[in-house]
Amino acid sequence: MWTKHPDQMQVYDIEAFLHSKAAREYSWRWQKESPVWKAQPGIAHKALAKLEEAGMLSLLATQNFDALHEKAGNSPDVIVNLHGTIGSSHCMTCAAPYRTSDIMDQLDQVSDPHCRRKLHYQGDLPCNGLIKTDVVYFGEALPEGAMEKSLRLSTQADQLWVIGSTLEVFPAASIVPAAAQAGVPITIMNMGRTRYDRLAKRLIREPIQDALPKLVEETIASEQAA
Ligand SMILES: [Zn+2]
Repeated sequence: MWTKHPDQMQVYDIEAFLHSKAAREYSWRWQKESPVWKAQPGIAHKALAKLEEAGMLSLLATQNFDALHEKAGNSPDVIVNLHGTIGSSHCMTCAAPYRTSDIMDQLDQVSDPHCRRKLHYQGDLPCNGLIKTDVVYFGEALPEGAMEKSLRLSTQADQLWVIGSTLEVFPAASIVPAAAQAGVPITIMNMGRTRYDRLAKRLIREPIQDALPKLVEETIASEQAA
């Protein structure tokens, strides 16, 4: 995405967001109008919800921040949004949580949203901190505990599936060598080559929307037969 649309990197630049009203208005407006906000889950997302329903998914670590796994029905217990999520927002001063949908609904009236929580320690005046989506912007740290949880669960898993990633972005990509070191069999499903093809027991070079539902069906069937 960043390669195809370099202007979008500006949307997620934390320094600009902190220091410029125009940058914040641009960031909010762009996010509201982007496919990231408007997209709906596809059959591949739904396949992963089915896998969880069958009790076979302990971790869904994703670099996407479109909140589509939540929309598809996977539970927050298994989802780790390594690069955050557009589904929720927070005040950067007092950490008050906000629903992004509420802010988007108001965006035509409030183009640069600020926190309205009344703070007791300042005489019940509103906090007035900046509100930002929970997407990890360039220059921000990953959500606390995200990598730790991903590494812990992926190294304990019976299998690790890599779905639609070139494994070029770290630290997320390091889940794969960590799992390989722990002896976890790895499946890589991606149309092109990836950095860690050599660590995979199984390489699947088919479109995800075809290959993933098939793999989920087969996996559930073989578990039921066992
Ligand atoms: Zn606040």
